[in-house]
Parts: sequence; C-alpha cells; structure tokens
Amino acid sequence: MTSIVAPLLAWPARVSIREVGPRDGLQNEHVMLTTAQKVLLVETLADAGVAMIEAGAFVRRDSVPQMADTEEVFAAITRRPGVMYSAIVPNAVGARRAVLARVDALQVFLSASESHNQSNVNMRVEESLVQAADIAAIVRNAGLRFEAVISVAFGCPFEGDVPLERVMDLAGRLLDMGAEQITFGDTTGMGHPGLVRDLVLAYSARFPRVKPRLHLHSARGAGLANVLMALQLGVDCFDASVGGIGGCPFAPGAPGNICTEDLVHMLHEMGIATGIRLPALIDATRVLERMLGRTVPGQTIKAGVCKHLPPDGGPRGE
Ligand code: ZN
Repeated sequence: MTSIVAPLLAWPARVSIREVGPRDGLQNEHVMLTTAQKVLLVETLADAGVAMIEAGAFVRRDSVPQMADTEEVFAAITRRPGVMYSAIVPNAVGARRAVLARVDALQVFLSASESHNQSNVNMRVEESLVQAADIAAIVRNAGLRFEAVISVAFGCPFEGDVPLERVMDLAGRLLDMGAEQITFGDTTGMGHPGLVRDLVLAYSARFPRVKPRLHLHSARGAGLANVLMALQLGVDCFDASVGGIGGCPFAPGAPGNICTEDLVHMLHEMGIATGIRLPALIDATRVLERMLGRTVPGQTIKAGVCKHLPPDGGPRGE
C-alpha cells in the first residue's frame, strides 16, 4: 500500500473581495432595478463591510440598458469611508464619464480572444489596447486608480482554448500602461483548477510585482475549487457577486459569478479573514432577492450559516 504524504498546504490569512453584483450581476439579470434599488444594494453591501464594490459600467446606454443610470447611481450613493467604488469602461468616452462621476477606480476591460472582444465591445483587441492607453492617461491625469480586466482568460465560448502566452502578452502590455492590477476573468466558467494553476504560476513568474485578481464563474460548478487552487498559490484577490447573480450569458439558467456569501462562508470556515460581516451580507442578499422577486443561485442563504462561526461572522479564532 502506498503511503499518502500530505503536501504542505498554506493559504493567505486575509483575502480582498471585490463585490461585482451591482454591475456584473445586474447586467446579466432580466429584471431591471431602479436607481434607488441599486443605490440601496450598494449601500447595504458597504454596511456589511465590503470594501470594494463594482457599482456600474460606463458603456453605451442603448447597448446595456441595465447600466444606463450608472452616473445617477454614483451621484446618489452615500459613500462610506474606506470603501472603493469602481466601474468598468471600454473606451476613452466611458473613462471621461467615469471621472466626472467621481469613481475611485476604473477598470478597462478587453478579451483574450478576438471573437469575444468583437461580440462584447465591437472592436479588435488591438483597438481595445489603443483605448486602454487613452484610458490610462485620462485616469492618471485625474489621479485615480487604473486597473484592467482580461475576459475569457480561461477559455472562449467561440474559440475554445485561449493560449496562455496570449493572455500573458496582454497582461504585460496593460501593466506597461500602468495598470495597478490585472483581473483574469473566467467569463463563461470554462476554468478548472489545472488552468488556474497554470495561469497563476505563469503570471507570478513573469510579473511578480503586481498581484493578480481572479474573477471566477461557476457555470460548470468549478468556481470554489478554482478559488482553493488559487489560494494555495498565494492569490488573495477575488471578485464575487452577491447571491451569485449574473448567470452565464451564453448558457441561460446556468450559474454565473461565484457567490459572495458562499465564498465568504468558505473562507471564514478556513480561518481566512475578509473584513465582511457574513450575517449582514446575507441580509443584503435577502434585500436583493426581494428586489429581483426570485430566489438567487447562492447556496449559503438556503443552507444557513454553520453554527460554529462566531456571531459577528468573522473567521473562527479571529
Ligand atoms: Zn462575471
């Protein structure tokens, strides 16, 4: 009988979570929330201790009607000190709107595959890179934080596998423009732990100075398994969506973004701090369910919080 030698497993003591429900989540929902409802959602999430919130998108109002009132949302939010309110922008026009709306951080987004970039922002990837350079200059002049998101980094619904070298090349070009963080998006949930390992190791070897962030989806159920692999490689920045809203845009009915309260519950059970008060976060999910008029995909809200977690919702022993 072969003996099993347990590998030395370690993970970060603390994880940064960016809540993307108010943007990525709502953008992929059929129900259109009012501006007041979006503001309430963002404020309830901030009250729960979420320190980074993606609150909107400065895109064409006619092409993404769910995000048409992003200016109004930013104007109406009562901002909580210490919370970073960010938005995504595809081009310089969006960046100028975002600066005027007083966002704290802007993320340019582009895709690792030509087909997805074309379908998402109607540009070639090289054109998106030209826009990214313009956005970087606008953001720098405004003294704000410039970040970048590379979508379909783990696979493209149109083209299939995306070469890792291509993803690393794009990351390098965005970092050269001054991006303070690169988020790798598993936009349609094609990632698995092996791919996460390969991408994180390749990125860390090539760009050791700038932490990556992972935006994982669970369309095929691998979301939290992918988080675990990333944690064991030292990744401590993740995106997640309250209630797990924002289904996979290419698979109606399939889960999309990993669910914030499921992620926070798992991390707290592992003894990893998030700064988020889980009971308050679950309250935010219930507020969201009432707004949407339906049950959300997240599991913790159905199963309940494990009884041994402390009442303040932090990790055990914190
Ligand atoms: Zn997403």
